[in-house]
Amino acid sequence: MSSRALRPQATPAARLAERRPARRAAAATAPPVVLVKHAPPFRMASRESHPESTIVTAGAVSIGTGALVVMAGPCSIESRQQIRETARRVKTAGADMLRGGAYKPRTSPYDFQGLGRKALEWLAEAGRESGLPVVTEVLSPEDVDLVADHADLLQVGARNMQNFALLRRLATATKPVLLKRGPSATIQEWLLAAEYLLSGGNLQVVLCERGIRTFETATRNTLDLAGVALAKQLTHLPVIVDPSHGTGKRALVAPASRAAAAVGADGLLIEVHPCPGRALSDGEQSLDPGEFAELMVTLRPRAVAARA
Ligand code: PEP
Ligand code: MN
Repeated sequence: MSSRALRPQATPAARLAERRPARRAAAATAPPVVLVKHAPPFRMASRESHPESTIVTAGAVSIGTGALVVMAGPCSIESRQQIRETARRVKTAGADMLRGGAYKPRTSPYDFQGLGRKALEWLAEAGRESGLPVVTEVLSPEDVDLVADHADLLQVGARNMQNFALLRRLATATKPVLLKRGPSATIQEWLLAAEYLLSGGNLQVVLCERGIRTFETATRNTLDLAGVALAKQLTHLPVIVDPSHGTGKRALVAPASRAAAAVGADGLLIEVHPCPGRALSDGEQSLDPGEFAELMVTLRPRAVAARA
């Protein structure tokens, strides 16, 4: 029988009292406890690492200065005349940049796929004529040089947000990138996609919320405006909103645009077609030039008020 077994049983209180001095001694010699807050995984995109807001320059336009930058134009470039007329109308209404798709990411391979190189040339020409810098989508790494020769801002579409080969190639491009949020991407995944561009050497990145897929089918996508406000807090990169794909409905584009300005978006990407009823893609969510002009009148004062 061990001597320990012969000792009278200590009460719980006595056991505690026995341990306390040892604990106190350990605490006296241990280094002070420092609470480590985990840094976000999107190291370069995070506002913690870079508190001032980044300003991205596309042609002569600065995005992220606090002023609302409006990019407008057709979903797809359909003819030389269509993009030139749209450019003239949106410029008159006060747009800052011209959009238009030459390479279209379509859900169905049977839908209009865009006019490619020819459309890029018409877009660049319409941009020069109107004095508006242009933004257009690039679908694959092989097209980056060609698209960068014609555009001031290179759009990565929602479906390509995690196309890492494309992101790596764009990281070495000499033009800024507009990175759309994937329809099922979390905000962290979106910012990590931006991280591919930043860590690869392209510091000129604009984020674009264009709606995510939820259970709701009454709108084409669910425009995550709280996500925009959150992204603005988490990152120093400018964040813009696409209310056209975000709602899928022409009648919702104006209220969603005003709401985006109110939550602090740095800009808007809006589909405008000279005749939406005849558009080859996304006519139902496109404004005609008159509707766009009306929207612009209501937007500027709100954008200023949101920042007051
Ligand atoms: C577009 O801008 O026309 C487009 C295809 O957008 P998204 O990638 O957001 O669907
Ligand atoms: Mn579209």
